[in-house]
Amino acid sequence: MPYAVPCGAQAGDAPAREDPWRVVLIRNWDAMYPINVTRETALRAALMDNPERVVEIYPEEIDSLRFGEAVDEEMVSLLRRKYKDMSVDLVIASGREPLLFAARHRAELWPGVPIVFNGVTEGELAGWKRPERTTGVTMIFDVEGTLALGAALVPSARAVYFVSGASDFDRFYLDMATRQARRFGRLEVRFIAGATQAETLARVAAIGPDAFVVYLTMLRDATGQIAAPGLGTLPRVVSASRVPVLASIHTQLGRGALAGSFARVDEHGRIAGLLARSVLEGADPDAIAVKADPQPVCQVDWNGLYRWAIPERNVPKACSIINRPPSLWETYFWPMVALIAIIVLQAVLISSLVIEIRRRRIAEDQSRERGAELARVARLSTVGALTASIAHEINQPMGAILSNAEAAEMMLDQGTLETATLREILADIRTEDLRASEVIQRLRKLLGERESTPVAMDVNREVAEALRHLAFDAARRGVMLTPVFSSEVPAILGDPVQVQQVIINLVVNAMDAVGQEPERQREVWIETRAVAGGAQAIVADRGPGLAPQDEARLFHSNFTSKKDGMGFGLSIVRTITEMHGGSVGHEPNVPHGSIFRVTFPAVGT
Ligand code: ADP
Repeated sequence: MPYAVPCGAQAGDAPAREDPWRVVLIRNWDAMYPINVTRETALRAALMDNPERVVEIYPEEIDSLRFGEAVDEEMVSLLRRKYKDMSVDLVIASGREPLLFAARHRAELWPGVPIVFNGVTEGELAGWKRPERTTGVTMIFDVEGTLALGAALVPSARAVYFVSGASDFDRFYLDMATRQARRFGRLEVRFIAGATQAETLARVAAIGPDAFVVYLTMLRDATGQIAAPGLGTLPRVVSASRVPVLASIHTQLGRGALAGSFARVDEHGRIAGLLARSVLEGADPDAIAVKADPQPVCQVDWNGLYRWAIPERNVPKACSIINRPPSLWETYFWPMVALIAIIVLQAVLISSLVIEIRRRRIAEDQSRERGAELARVARLSTVGALTASIAHEINQPMGAILSNAEAAEMMLDQGTLETATLREILADIRTEDLRASEVIQRLRKLLGERESTPVAMDVNREVAEALRHLAFDAARRGVMLTPVFSSEVPAILGDPVQVQQVIINLVVNAMDAVGQEPERQREVWIETRAVAGGAQAIVADRGPGLAPQDEARLFHSNFTSKKDGMGFGLSIVRTITEMHGGSVGHEPNVPHGSIFRVTFPAVGT
């Protein structure tokens, strides 16, 4: 035996089932008309929303539009057969004919069962006497409110056209609308009623200005053709019409009608569902008054305003506007947020860049000023280095002038001075004087204050000029200066005097470095060469070289290892080369000594 049956229980026993609430729902016409679908959906939702007991719905169709009461007898006998052994708790009648049918046959089919009705148009039950155990809600088609709305939306309108069909309901609705129009009184009422669909559309198309249409219903046209759900009579009327089309049934809005005043059909269904529920739960239907519920509301379709070019200011304050397209902001909220964030970010970035550029410019200006100051200091510092040269170069012509003058004096004393000789002596004196003033000129050029404007220059020439200034000092120190010039060196852009200062500082340092070496090792090499994108000047010596710990601070100002040194020379070299867009570096010479390389970019790079 695969499994044991628990003791006391018998196979086939099911837990006792509580009786559901059985509800017969009688429908009219085609259940798929939007008004029926909307109402019944809401009704069922309210009825089934967590009820005390399960609710079972038994839908029945009587289709009075097509059959009237012609098959009543057969219907009744079928229903009798269906519900013979079943206890029904409630009959819901959706529409006037279902209500009348239920009232007529209740005693036979569902004796004593209460009836709750809905979907009956207000006014459709005029003269009707409510049977016992029957209650319900009626639905308002507010034609009068719709006419007032039309008059507000189309202030120029003098007439209203009612469009209606040929069925009993169509005629009932048209009568009711006409009575309401009379009550409204402000518009001439014209009718396009009971015609064929084609004729109706043609007559709608011919409506002149200063009017609007209120589309009622066209369940059946003059040919007897029934407008089944989905046939789209209203949209056709709307597209044929040059004047606005309004409607007084909730579900007609959103299918082309401009506006209307009506009771919401979904709300009506919900109210009916709640009413049915309370009757199921035991409420006495006779104690519940029949009333119209809910009250009408006013709605305007944004598409209609657009289609018939009606300004939004014509819409009465109490009306809501449906189908308004979402604003750009609503549609693209996140992309817009992202866009704005990007723009703000960009703005922040751009402004910080601008600030950065300004800051850098200020820094550059300051560094240029400092550079110029340093260049002045540099010039003064070279004065020290060149003192011996200056003295020597001035001394020579001075000495020559003096000996010429002494010779002339002597000859004058001896009476041997001839005019021609005197002329020669004077010419000599002038030549020497000119030489002296040329030296002074050159020094003034090197040491004088002036604005520096960059010019293209030949590096070889400036290096040679620097060496000329240093020649005497070198000779005095017993140092040999060995220039090696390349003819390939490209022109560079800058201040020639500053470039000379660079060379002078490096060579003076190199001469200092070899000062203690034996005389034959006191040599300084000055080389120029072309390198990628520029010109290079190299100053090399075989002095003691640098202590490794000094390498890092070599170019710092104030670093000096000399007793009477100031520590400016190399920092001036670096500042000048960098101002020229170049660089300076040091490396040890082999087997000892130093090599300094100064590189300047070629003109145009
Ligand atoms: P100063 O010559 O007044 O000391 P510099 O800035 O020109 O200032 O030089 C800084 C220091 O760098 C020098 O004191 C020296 O120690 C070192 N130096 C510079 N050039 C050389 C060189 N060619 N060989 C060895 N040491 C050098």
